[in-house]
Amino acid sequence: MILNDILEEYKNIETLSQAQRLMHWDLETNMPEKGIDFRSEVLSRLEMFRQERIMNLQGKVDALNTKDFSDLEHGIVRNLKRSIHYYVSIPKDVLKELSKTSSKAAMVWRESRKRQDFSAFEPYLVKIVDLQKEIASYLGYENHPYNALMDLYEEGFTVKEADEIFNKLLNETKPILDKIIQERKFYVKHPLENKKYRMDSMKKVNKKILDILKMPMDRFRMDVSAHPFTTNISMDDVRITTRYEGINFKSTLFSTIHESGHAIYELQIDPSLAWTPVAGAPSLGFHESQSRFFENIVGRSKEFVHILYPALREYLPFIKNYDEHDIFVYFNTVSPSLIRVDADEVTYNFHIALRYEIEKNLLTGKFSVSDLPEIWDQFMEKYLGIRPGNVSEGVMQDIHWSQGSFGYFPTYSLGNIISAIIRYQIKDLHENIESGNIDYVKKFLRDKIHRYGSIYSPKELLKRSFNETYNPEYLIKYFREKYL
Ligand code: MG
Repeated sequence: MILNDILEEYKNIETLSQAQRLMHWDLETNMPEKGIDFRSEVLSRLEMFRQERIMNLQGKVDALNTKDFSDLEHGIVRNLKRSIHYYVSIPKDVLKELSKTSSKAAMVWRESRKRQDFSAFEPYLVKIVDLQKEIASYLGYENHPYNALMDLYEEGFTVKEADEIFNKLLNETKPILDKIIQERKFYVKHPLENKKYRMDSMKKVNKKILDILKMPMDRFRMDVSAHPFTTNISMDDVRITTRYEGINFKSTLFSTIHESGHAIYELQIDPSLAWTPVAGAPSLGFHESQSRFFENIVGRSKEFVHILYPALREYLPFIKNYDEHDIFVYFNTVSPSLIRVDADEVTYNFHIALRYEIEKNLLTGKFSVSDLPEIWDQFMEKYLGIRPGNVSEGVMQDIHWSQGSFGYFPTYSLGNIISAIIRYQIKDLHENIESGNIDYVKKFLRDKIHRYGSIYSPKELLKRSFNETYNPEYLIKYFREKYL
């Protein structure tokens, strides 16, 4: 049968992907600095081999008779067609141009961000935006060019939906945020934010977190890198990284929990899906929902503080002056701030809405790159009532645009929205966290989400498992119940 031939060939594609992921993990964690030139060249050649093999499947995939296919087989075909469409629609030289421009742009971004100099980065961003417009038109879309780009990360997600979601989410979060600030219970500059810690002590706390989350240490590992990330070499070899700034310990602690949430997803995909195109999450929003669920809904709960507290006291000497409630408040301080990656869960979606508005309007030409610093600051003022002092804490703070990732940001908010949907569908969540029964939580997530891989599209999975859409109401309800 042709599908079996296709799946046999897909094993070669997966082999290349595993090699790429391992080399990339090594690049971020262990590689000596000077290895970068050879490593980049090898990674991009591997990527070319992989693309060719995917495109070569087109004839066979088109010839399939899918009439009596199972859900799994339909899922395999849907995922293959999405990959093939991407590489076949966009001319090779456009993809090469994007890859060349963005590796240069990422370097320029890093340097000019340090100097707070947008003008040096501007020509690269202009070029990248032009390439995104081209890519959108090659991919094809209905109604809005940005739909083509968001679809790459979140299948079928549209500007129409995003406009509605952000409208509702922002309008209803704003009064909650105002009230939090008025009441001052969570709106505090917490003294623990300035406490320095020893890296070896903090490593023990993070190790304790892996124990609490019952991470399977024979299929999982944690290392250190400049920017925390998760990678799955295979479904039996999933790796995360964290980083140690030496101050404000919740930062490393929550990046460890966040990446563990991503890892749990990969570790719980049904083993029978290995070596197929459906052995991964259906979308970035879904993947992010798992990291956010563990980080915010589990990790920032009173019950989680309760089980973690003894380890904090044991390893961090300054904790003796703070009780469990103090730690809970420290984990959940809320205040409008300039930097997205440091933002709390209540203000986070404002940061995303701002990026969404900018990307969407750049694609249609309504905004131009040269006006971005001012546009950015105006949005910050409108959404959170604060203004960046310079471009490094404004328009130049994120790496995404320099890497050519457009359409990616909205998936962070979708992750928040899905995590709250789960929060209200899982029974006795907090009782189970408090008694350390994380396996109960993991089993729920495995049965409802992880085991399916990407057999279903994200919208289908939301419908099947939760009878929901990307409905922001649960997230708003969660904010209200937790903070007011
Ligand atoms: Mg993440």
